[in-house]
Formats: sequence, C-alpha cells, structure tokens
Amino acid sequence: MTQLPLHHALDQADLAVTITPGLLHETVTHLIVQVVLKKPALGPGDILVQLPLELAKIPTARYDGNTLKAFDQSGPLEWKGLTTRKARQSFGGNGSLRGRRMAMVVGVDTKTGPAFDLRADNNGIIGTGYAFLPLPADGESKLTISVDFDLRYSPAGFHGVFTHSPPDLSTARLTGRPSILHQSFYLLGRLKYLKDYGNNHDAVTSSESGHFNIFWQSELPFDIQKVAKETKQVFEYMCDFFQCPGESYRIFFREDPYYVVRSGLAQPGAFLISFGLLLKQAGWALDSFTTLFAHEMTHNFANLAEGEDIANGAQWYAEGLAEYYSIFARYRLGLLDMHGVINEMNYRAQAYYTSPLATLSNEEVNKLTWKTQNAQRLPYSRGLVFWIRLDALIRETSGGHHGIDKLVVEMVQLARTRGKLPTLAEFLERLAQDLGPVARQEYEHHNSGKLIVPPEHSLIPGAVAVRIDMEPFDLGFNEESVLLGPRIVRGLRSDSRAAKAGILEGDLITSWIDLNHCKDHLEVKMELKIERKTADSEVPRELDITFWPRAYTKVEGWGWKLVNAKD
Ligand SMILES: [Zn+2]
Repeated sequence: MTQLPLHHALDQADLAVTITPGLLHETVTHLIVQVVLKKPALGPGDILVQLPLELAKIPTARYDGNTLKAFDQSGPLEWKGLTTRKARQSFGGNGSLRGRRMAMVVGVDTKTGPAFDLRADNNGIIGTGYAFLPLPADGESKLTISVDFDLRYSPAGFHGVFTHSPPDLSTARLTGRPSILHQSFYLLGRLKYLKDYGNNHDAVTSSESGHFNIFWQSELPFDIQKVAKETKQVFEYMCDFFQCPGESYRIFFREDPYYVVRSGLAQPGAFLISFGLLLKQAGWALDSFTTLFAHEMTHNFANLAEGEDIANGAQWYAEGLAEYYSIFARYRLGLLDMHGVINEMNYRAQAYYTSPLATLSNEEVNKLTWKTQNAQRLPYSRGLVFWIRLDALIRETSGGHHGIDKLVVEMVQLARTRGKLPTLAEFLERLAQDLGPVARQEYEHHNSGKLIVPPEHSLIPGAVAVRIDMEPFDLGFNEESVLLGPRIVRGLRSDSRAAKAGILEGDLITSWIDLNHCKDHLEVKMELKIERKTADSEVPRELDITFWPRAYTKVEGWGWKLVNAKD
C-alpha cells in the first residue's frame, strides 16, 4: 500500500478533519474521511479514536473490516478496528486515520429514528458526526480543531458545510473538545443557503462571531426567505435576552421519504429539520416554522445538565421553557399579538389537560418515552403550563417586578460562566429565592402528576385563566393502526365516534390527518380515506370518513381569555 501524504492542516491544528465526497454520476455515494491528530499522547493499547457503533438503534459507519486505516509518519499502524476501539501501537509522532463511509439510502420503509444517521439527500449527503467521524475522546483541555471539505474533484456548485463552518464556508477553525465534531451536522452537495445573512462584523475566517443561516438541498414548497427573516429576528432576540452575544446558529433541512409530517434534532448551535411526503403534499403552515425554530433555539441556551435529573424525567424544564419562549420571543418581537398568544397557549394547554398520561408523575411518563408519543410530548405542554404558573406566582411575590425571565437568564449565565449546566437541585434552590418554601411544594405537586391550575392572573396582562373542561383525545381504535404500515384499523371500539361514523375493523387507511395535529387541536376532525374489501367486488371500495376523535366524556382543563374580548 502506498502511504498517503498527510494533510497540510496538520501544521495548524491539534485535530484536523478533511471530508471528501465520493461521487458517482454527480451524486455523493460515500465520504472519504481523514482525521489527523497532532502528537496524540498515547501509549500501547490506548484508545486512539472512538465512534458509537449504534445510535438510536441505527448502526453508524462502524468501519468494520479494514475500512479504517491508521498511519503515523513511519507508515501504517497495526490496528484492531473500531469494534475494539483500540489501536495497539503507540504513536511517536503525528497520526492520521482514513475511512470511507457509504451514505445510507433510505426508503419509505426504512426504520425511523432521530436524525443522527448519515444519509443520501437528493444528490448530496447529510448527517451528524456521530454517524461517521472517528474522534479522540475528550480530554481535560480544549484542542485547536480544523474542518475542511475537499471539493477539488466535485462538480461545480458543490459545497460542504457543518454546524461550525464560517459564513463563507471556508475551512473552519475552532477551539473545543473533539466531541463538538460528533455533535455537529454535516451537509455536502448542491446545497442552498441564505445569502447576505451574516452580520456585518463577521470576519471571514472567524467562527466565533454570531451568525445565523439556513441550509437545504431540496425544493422547499414555501417561502424560505420569509421564514428566515422572522427566525433570524427571534435568534437575535434570544442572544440578547439570554445575554449570549456572538452565538452562532444554523438550521439544516433534510427531506425524508417517510410520511412523517416533520421531525427535528437539536444539537449545540444547530437544528436539523426533516420533512416528509405528507407535509409536502399538504402545504406548509408558515407560522409553525418560526415557532418550531424558536423552540429549538431556546434549547441552545436554557438547559439542565444531562444525567440523573433528565433520567428521572426533568425534560419538562427545557421543553417547557422552549415552548414558553417560542411563544414569548415572538410576542415580544411583535410577531404574535395577544390573540395569538391566547390561541397558541390554549391549544398547548389543551394538549396537556387531555393527554391520557396527564396524571402520571414525570418519572412514570419518562419511562414510557419510547413506547408512546404521548409520553414524549407531555413534558412540553405540562412543562409549559407549569412555567406559566411559576411565572404568575413569582410576579405575585415580587410585587409585579419580574416573572421567570430573571431566574431563567441567571441559570443560563451560571452555565456559561462556569462551563457546566445547572442541576435540578440548583434550579430549585434558585426558585426558592423567589418563592420561599412554596417552591418545593409547587415542584413536588407538578412532579407527581397532580393537576396544574394556572392562577387567575397569568400568561399576559389582560388575560385571565378560565376553566374549560374538554373531551380527551380518543381515536376509537389502536393508534398504531395509523402510525405503522400497513395501516389497518385494529382494536375498534363499537361505542366510539369512529365506529359510529362507519369505520370497520380491518379497513385499510390510505390517507389520514396527523395524530399529533388532532391531539393538539380540540376542534380538528380526523379525515380518513379507507379502502375496504367487499364480497361482491374484486376492487376494494374507497370511502372518505370524517369523525371527531374525542371521547364523549370531559376532563378538567384550563385556558385563557382576554378580559375585554367579546365572546
Ligand atoms: Zn424541544
């Protein structure tokens, strides 16, 4: 084997990554990855690089066999491969690794999971570093890192970008721990992005200065410029509000061949949004994008430390805040008026009060997270209602001086100054400064799954909380009938609204309204297209059936109305 020359970035960075697209007919089929480590302080048997073998049950590049090779300056190294994750040789000098990673081609039946995987997207490729980038473990100190896309042999118009690329997409240079490269999104191909969206003081080679952009490859069936304008406004508001100047944020779009309406994955400094066929067909609600992006951006600032708290169900903290500021950032920017706040709040509150899991404790809900979407979603709505309640209580005790903003910003600042996110205990301690011993009671009440009732004067000035009892969501048959193909009606209850509307056990569902959309909006009807086999015909009968997917009984719920509004 011939020894490949080491990349020039070696002279500059402790860790230099070069990514080269492998192409067939102008389509990226794989990536060629080179990782160069400057003087890794390792002995025989030490771990040189690591890569998860599986993420969310989806295999990563793995580099089984001899697809990953290691060299130092005197030649190839003996190497056990990533399954043992160990290099048996020590490095006297500089070392480099080379690997190839094929793009995963996905189809309608590919297993869905969080978007960590590396996959084909139109003619390009998109994924996180977890999926393909072998990296040294994080050490005590930060490294100088460079990331380069080698596009010398790519067709004209090809670009490469990752979460921390500078605005002009040139070689990125940053200081950080290697894991930052795993937590980044990478997109290569004929990508599109917003022009003129850098702020004026962006130095061309600096990735330190604040920068916002959106990257995509597919045709987007909506006005991206309009979405981008509002989203950028929200981003700038948040940098200011959370007192974090110079932040950078990127949004990546990925097209999915699934019928999933849309899903997303947030990583530091970026968000990847996947959109599926259904959404493309149905058209896009413009507002919902700014809302979603505002939610995800909040995660970039306000979080609790990973670990025990999160394992015990403290997702409500970050998800509730993300929901809160997705509404309030837009409200404060004038992108949402009072009626908008009430509307958005009421449908989220409705989702909480009518959730079948509303009375379970946070810990119980957390245990069901990967079993039912209801469990994944509850921390959002319940967390939000809890934050609204805390906001009102703090306003009351501070004589109207402040609500949760002050506390939340302090938690964000605490994390930034000491480089470590706050724990739940630290938050509760800080909350007690505002509320006294009530803080603990409030938390226990919510944490145990007891009903959260908003104080009368809460949300925004001019609004009052009102009791609105509501019908819980009830599809009338197993929700899996809609979630998993082949979509056949199973477990139909004869007393349900679905049955009364004419649905039969065994009907094949060919079109439907997204379940979460129905759950979020009390008034939304389920519209199904059905194919039904009948004895008298070879051709199945096609039927349109519409019904209200709600129970006949009501549960206690709360919402808000404007005091002076007619109604
Ligand atoms: Zn979230």
